[in-house]
This record gives sequence, structure tokens and C-alpha cells, in this order.
Amino acid sequence: MVEDNSYKRLSIGIVGGGIGGVAFAAALSRSSSLDIHLFEAAPQFSEIGAGVSFGPNAVRAIELLNLGGSYRRIADASPAPFENVWFEWRRGSDDAYLTASLAPGCGQSSVHRADFLDAIVTHLPKGVAHFSKRCIDVQQDGGGVTASFDDGTSFTGDILIGFDGIKSTVRDHVLPPGQHSDCSPFWSGTYAYRGMIPTTQLEAAMETRGADKRLAMVPQMYLGTDRHILTFPVKQTELINVVAFITDRTTPDPKLAVGEAWVNVVSQDEMLKVFEGWGAASQAILSCIPEPTRWALHELPELPRYQRDRVLIVGDAAHAMVPHQGAGAGQALEDAYVLASLLSDEACNRENVQKTLAAFEAVRHERTCKVQRTSHEAGDVYEYSAPNIGDNEARLVAELETRFDWLWNHNPQDDVVEARVQLGWEPISFTASA
Ligand SMILES: Cc1cc2nc3c(=O)[nH]c(=O)nc-3n(C[C@H](O)[C@H](O)[C@H](O)COP(=O)(O)OP(=O)(O)OC[C@H]3O[C@@H](n4cnc5c(N)ncnc54)[C@H](O)[C@@H]3O)c2cc1C
Repeated sequence: MVEDNSYKRLSIGIVGGGIGGVAFAAALSRSSSLDIHLFEAAPQFSEIGAGVSFGPNAVRAIELLNLGGSYRRIADASPAPFENVWFEWRRGSDDAYLTASLAPGCGQSSVHRADFLDAIVTHLPKGVAHFSKRCIDVQQDGGGVTASFDDGTSFTGDILIGFDGIKSTVRDHVLPPGQHSDCSPFWSGTYAYRGMIPTTQLEAAMETRGADKRLAMVPQMYLGTDRHILTFPVKQTELINVVAFITDRTTPDPKLAVGEAWVNVVSQDEMLKVFEGWGAASQAILSCIPEPTRWALHELPELPRYQRDRVLIVGDAAHAMVPHQGAGAGQALEDAYVLASLLSDEACNRENVQKTLAAFEAVRHERTCKVQRTSHEAGDVYEYSAPNIGDNEARLVAELETRFDWLWNHNPQDDVVEARVQLGWEPISFTASA
């Protein structure tokens, strides 16, 4: 951090080395005129042992970030002839098939989180990542921005990008508490029980309980009032990722008990009680998770802005959402691609970099807020609580068949084109669409 990089076009600090921060740093690292430093609070990169699912827009962003080869080597897809199935939707009480959401050419594309992070970390050049650096303060002036860390060190550069997740510290600098309406994460009212099951074990449990064992391998959503369960395979179909949700809709502003942790290990009995009376497939799934973790799902309100002069928040730091469209990491990856494309361009320099961050915010804000909002609403749809749909299965089916098209059909190259127009840069046209 003491080396002289003043000859570089821009010096960029990134706070947070999750999926978004690492993908972003890797993309920027391809530009030799940039000085890049990524600061991660943990002593090493790490992700939890769970699955993450990517829609067609997220897979497109992964390809555009040049991470496609690494992704494809570890990704799971639905088995033939279900290649295009994102999820099949079923009634939770008796497993009856309702419909399927199709994502042609992509289907359910998913990975084990830790495997994905390990794979994309290999794209980071040596010296970019700095560990055990928890950012505790951010200051800026006309000359630069300084991030201070809990080990007493600091970084000063031209800009700072906060990729530091839902509990972001950088967000407090962009939107200082007290000067803005509350921008803190809030509990969505939903708990998610999570577990991973060896595929062969789940297939056997399905057969024992009289459920179709094919349901283990093809991504499924089981729906019911205030509850739903999802499953999809990860780790080259070795494991089945399970998330079982329950939502408190008795009050518009549900609160966690004082002092309750966001994540707890709970008993299998607690989870089984929540789904009492559900069908054979659900009982088989839950019977295979002896020690579920229970996550109190938090989200952010739609923030009024993401940028303050030299500092920008992105990914979950800016627009954390509930996972009901499997879209949070996808938005972080779209952010990473669009921002890296703008900052890597030789047209971006010390004089116009703040305008570049503003152009990024202008092209990304509306979409990311809409993904947040519709992710919350999707939970209501799945749990028979959406206005004008409720438990009317015909309406539910019609909704689920087309609900995700706008989200999936987005190409982040269009955001880059639009931002360049705003910046008055030379127009760019992308030859082949990814
Ligand atoms: C139950 C559940 C299921 C989900 N499923 C999906 C899914 O299927 N598909 C999908 O697209 N999304 C899913 N998501 C959302 C997804 O996990 C997030 O949107 C995504 O991880 C955000 O990436 P990020 O890089 O912005 O933040 P994070 O992954 O949270 O990374 C933030 C990083 O910053 C570091 N950090 C934090 N504070 C500091 C600090 N002060 N200084 C330095 N470093 C710091 C952290 O240690 C971490 O490494 C799910 C979320 C949940 C809770």
C-alpha cells in the first residue's frame, strides 16, 4: 500500500471480498492502467456451504465478466429433458404439479457458493487482495478518499467502492445515519431453514414416503399459505440445496426478539412443526435435515442514492433483498460488470471519475430497486398472499409462467451503452450479444 502508483490512471479501493467484490476486482485487474486494492474483513475469502442459483441475466453477467469458463466447470443444470426448467411449482400439501417457469437456454443454473468463490478468486492477480482489513471509517475531500481499517492501517485512493454486503460500513458514509430516513436493514418477517442433503439420500427418502424420486433432481418449489420450500441440485448433482420459508404476516412491521441473532442452529422438530400436514415430498426433504440453520431474512429499503462524490455502494450494500427471485448475487454481478466496464475505459480519468460513478448510479438505480421490490412481492405470490392472486391457482399459474421474464431478459451491456451516452463518451456497440 506504500508503493507509488501515482502514474496509474486511477487508484480504486474496494471494501468487501464476497462474490460481487471479487468478480469486480478480477474484471478491473485486466486493465493495467488501474491501481486496485480489495480489502476483506475476514482473514481469507470464504463463503457458506450452501447453493446459489443464477437466472439467465446473472449467467450473462458472469460470461461478460470473463468468468464463464470457471463457472461452467462447476455449475449444475437441470437434467434432460428439464434443461429449460427454472423451477417446477407444486402444491405443498399434496405435491400436485401446478406449472413450471421456463428459462430457455439456461434453466436452473446453480453452484455451491464456496466453489464459485474459490473459482473466481483464481482470476485475481497477486497483491490485489488484503485480508483482516475491516473498514471502520471513510473520509473524503477534494483530493481523494481514505478508508481506515480496524488494524490501524488505511488506504487512500481516487475512489472507494463499497461491496461490503448488507451490514455495510461504507453505506453509513454515503447515507449518514441522522441525515437520511432509516437506511438500515430490516427483518422481512420471513425465516428460512437451510440444509444440504446428499442426492442419493433424498431420492431414497422420497421413495420410502411414496413421492416421485425425480423430484429430488429437478428444481422444485412447494407452495402453501405463509410457507414454501425450494430444492435444487448443486456440486455436480451430488447434493440437494434446500431452503424452507415461513413468513409472519400478522403485522406490517414484524420485529425480531431483542438480541436474536440473524442466524441460529435450530432443532429439526421446530422445522417439522412448521410444515405439519404437508405432502410426502416435503416430509421426505425435511426428514433429511437433522440440524437446520434458521436465517432471519433481512432486506434494505430502496435507498435514495448509491453515490456520494468519490464513494459508491453496490451489491448487497446498496440493494440487499430477500432471495425469492434468486436474484441478489445476480444484481451484484451485473453491478460488477457495468461498473468495471466504465472504470476500465481509457475515457475515465481522475477528472471525470465522480461523474462516471453518477452515471453508473443513474443507469442501475431503477432496476436494482425494482428487483428488490419484486423479490419481496414474489414471496407473497409463492405463499398465497399476493393481492388479486391469493390462493387462486389459475391466477398463480399464469403469474409464475411469465413473472421473471423482465428480470432475466436484461442485458447489462445496455446499461454500459446508456451510461456512456450520459457521459458523452464515444458510443460503443457490442457486436455479439452475450
Ligand atoms: C437464504 C439466502 C439465499 C440466497 N440465494 C440466492 C440465490 O439463489 N441467488 C442469488 O443471486 N442470490 C441469492 N442470495 C443473495 C446473495 O447471497 C447476495 O445477494 C450476494 O451474496 C451479495 O453479494 P455481495 O458481494 O454484494 O455481498 P456479500 O456476499 O455479503 O459479501 C460482502 C463481503 O464484505 C465483507 N465485509 C463486510 N463488512 C466489511 C467491512 N466493514 N470491511 C471489509 N470487508 C467487509 C464480508 O466479509 C464479505 O466477504 C441469497 C441470500 C440468502 C440470505
